[in-house]
Amino acid sequence: MDYDILRKQMVENQIISRGISDKRVISAMLKVPRHLFVSENQRHEAYNDYPLPIGEDQTISQPYMVALMTELMCLDGDEKVLEIGTGSGYQTAILAELAKEVYTVEIIESLSMNAKHILNELGYRNIKFRIGDGYNGWKEYAPFDDIIVTCGPSDVPQPLIDQLGEGGKLVIPVGYSFQTLTILEKINGELRKTESIECRFVPMTRKYNFN
Ligand code: SAH
Repeated sequence: MDYDILRKQMVENQIISRGISDKRVISAMLKVPRHLFVSENQRHEAYNDYPLPIGEDQTISQPYMVALMTELMCLDGDEKVLEIGTGSGYQTAILAELAKEVYTVEIIESLSMNAKHILNELGYRNIKFRIGDGYNGWKEYAPFDDIIVTCGPSDVPQPLIDQLGEGGKLVIPVGYSFQTLTILEKINGELRKTESIECRFVPMTRKYNFN
């Protein structure tokens, strides 16, 4: 398998052709070896146009969804970002390429540990990992310049709104079963809401005894 060729084709056929134009997002998608974030027997499918299982009933998001959500965050490289739902760590790697610091929270310990291992191996040093319920964000390091949520709550968690800095964007799929990709921007302390496409993420689960 020539993964570099598959990755180029993925970017051309799934990302650029669907309208993603942020050059930094495109180069991060060209760089990060997505096949290393799935199990060996799934590597041949890693660059296909769909999510894949990563164990524990969870999935690595479809490449286009990763690119779209990242583009919506409008990162320029100076940001401190919060990610809820580390999962495979693939989206985390894309964020680590494009922001200054990434704080990532995952509720399932084994997934967080796997993601940490691969991201360390790939040399990322600007990521902090936390195992816990991301509904509560990560108060200790707030405020964040931008926040991305890659699991679907039925409502926007208030702690995430509180931890979003002035001028920041919260990109989050909202809804039960199917969601609307929603962008909340904090301007003068008020939230401005815009909606993007319909999407389907695994639900945001809650473990009240975690925090
Ligand atoms: N961006 C990831 C998506 C993984 S799927 C990737 O592309 O690999 C969503 C992840 O959110 C799952 O790993 C799931 O365990 C996690 N999750 C669900 N509810 C959560 C919560 N309350 N806090 C933190 N993570 C949560």
